[in-house]
Amino acid sequence: MIGGEIMCGITGYVGKRNAAEIGLKLLEKLVYRGYDSAGFASLDGANFSVMKAVGHMDRLYDKLNGSKPKGGAAICHTRWATHGIPTERNAHPHSDCAGRYYVVHNGVIENYKTLKRALEASGHVFASETDTEVLAHLFEETRKTTPSLFEAVRLGLQQVQGTFGLVLISSETPETLYVAARSSPILLGKGDGEYFIASDPRALILYTRDVEELGDDQIAVVTAKGHRVYDLDGVARSLKAQRIEWSEDEAEKGGYRHFMEKEIFSGPEAVANSIRGRLLIKEGNARLGGLNVDGVLERLSSAKRIYLSGCGTSYYAALFGQYLLKQAGIPAEAGIASEFRYSPPIFDPDDVVVLMSQSGETADTIGFLREAKKKVLTLGIVNVVGSKIARDTDAGIYQHISPEVGVASTKAFISQITILSLFTLLLARQRGMPVENGQMIAQSIARVPDLMQSMLSDEGWIKHIADLSQKYVNYTNFLYLGRGINYPTALEGALKLKEVSYIHAEGYPAGEMKHGPIAMIDENFVSVFIVPENGHRQRVFSNMEEIRARYGPVLAVATAGDLEVNEHADDIITIPPIEDTLSPILATVPLQLFAYKVGTAKGINVDMPRNLAKSVTVE
Ligand code: GLU
Repeated sequence: MIGGEIMCGITGYVGKRNAAEIGLKLLEKLVYRGYDSAGFASLDGANFSVMKAVGHMDRLYDKLNGSKPKGGAAICHTRWATHGIPTERNAHPHSDCAGRYYVVHNGVIENYKTLKRALEASGHVFASETDTEVLAHLFEETRKTTPSLFEAVRLGLQQVQGTFGLVLISSETPETLYVAARSSPILLGKGDGEYFIASDPRALILYTRDVEELGDDQIAVVTAKGHRVYDLDGVARSLKAQRIEWSEDEAEKGGYRHFMEKEIFSGPEAVANSIRGRLLIKEGNARLGGLNVDGVLERLSSAKRIYLSGCGTSYYAALFGQYLLKQAGIPAEAGIASEFRYSPPIFDPDDVVVLMSQSGETADTIGFLREAKKKVLTLGIVNVVGSKIARDTDAGIYQHISPEVGVASTKAFISQITILSLFTLLLARQRGMPVENGQMIAQSIARVPDLMQSMLSDEGWIKHIADLSQKYVNYTNFLYLGRGINYPTALEGALKLKEVSYIHAEGYPAGEMKHGPIAMIDENFVSVFIVPENGHRQRVFSNMEEIRARYGPVLAVATAGDLEVNEHADDIITIPPIEDTLSPILATVPLQLFAYKVGTAKGINVDMPRNLAKSVTVE
């Protein structure tokens, strides 16, 4: 797939149909990301209709009150504020002083203060606190000395530092849209004598499957009939025509109440898709086509250390990878991308960096990638094909799962840790793991989809989790605890609960709990233990007793048939028996479902939790 996922959204239209109506329809497809305000500008001849509203897009429709602004060109935006609080004034589109130009923008103009000061000194008056507004005034300024609006945009953008996906509409050239990009996706969709613009392919498939993605530092001049593309030096460029293959219902809810629910229940399919064609059971190995390029496999076989990095859930996946690789005897270290930038690993040239990002557009991860690329081999584990991280890493592994819509990651995490299991198997086999061990692991991985499905098809199991969510919904503090490879599982379980229920939850290593957090435990503080059958389970049982001795309620995720756990927990959710290294995949499923049930019991829109965006494209 092409394009990428970013928070906030841009759409546009130019053609013979009602542009505002189409632009807003496209925009509706982007609201899943999370946004705080919305707006549009449409042009009928030289007359603008502009409208903005804070909050849900419905507020914009309320304001329109059934009316349809006329005109064949429009730009629309859902904003996720970075500069200036979410108000109507700060909502996009933003205009210049004369009201001739309107701009919608995704990203951050890093030098906006410098530009703004200079523009104010030249007499420009600003109406908002955003960085974006600078663009409209900047083009107004450069237009004074350039022969065309295109030249004004081109020279204006040469002065801009930062990231942008933007569309400019102008009464000066009413039938032309100017589109530009740098580290922020923008796609052009070709129709029949019309063009659609969107920051996400999911919107475009409403009207067309023939799309082109604008490259970094490129400007497209788009009319109903066609477009021309240039780089910032004015050199003509051409874009690669692509066809979107996603089916429309792949991105729809498919009978579930929420995308999050659908995505939890499609976990088995996600695992199956991520391992399809990649697991060599007889050879006891994994084949990862994306790594089979330019000597990458050789470099992996001699890698001194693997550094794994990501943000949020993807960082927890990276941490899982660290435990797994080390367990297989391969030096590994996981780090949060936004911190690795400031305290970077001391790289050996033979090290390898693996970046985890569902969207492939996470700004902090891209920031670390930029640094790492200068020194070592970089790999990506990414879902969105053709996204920035997929493009900029030396090689990588696609997750191969259909689009994840829910803002809180579920199936993407499950798929990420599955892929890390394949990756570790490959590396371990390269380094002499006996074929029989490889076969055992490969067989266990192959069983995961069925084991997950056995949980998710068990109505009694699901009802039990629903009952527990009712029992615990009014508690306001949770500790999630696990040891070893299930410490990342604990972190992810806690994050899920935080994200979709707004309940305070912390993930902690079970052994560390007595060194501090235990001070908080009382009868109102719930502890969730991830305690599958393994070597250190007895120690976790001791930790559970330490909690119970302080009257703390204990909920355990444990292996079915483990009777001993009954003695240490108030409530138990079971998972099927599996090799310890794969237990996080199974244990994550009930934790996701529990968070989902608690969130929905509290009436929260779990698909779009407040303050969150699907993928965070600012640093
Ligand atoms: N930085 C711009 C703003 O705060 C754009 C944010 C966005 O990408 O929605 O208005």
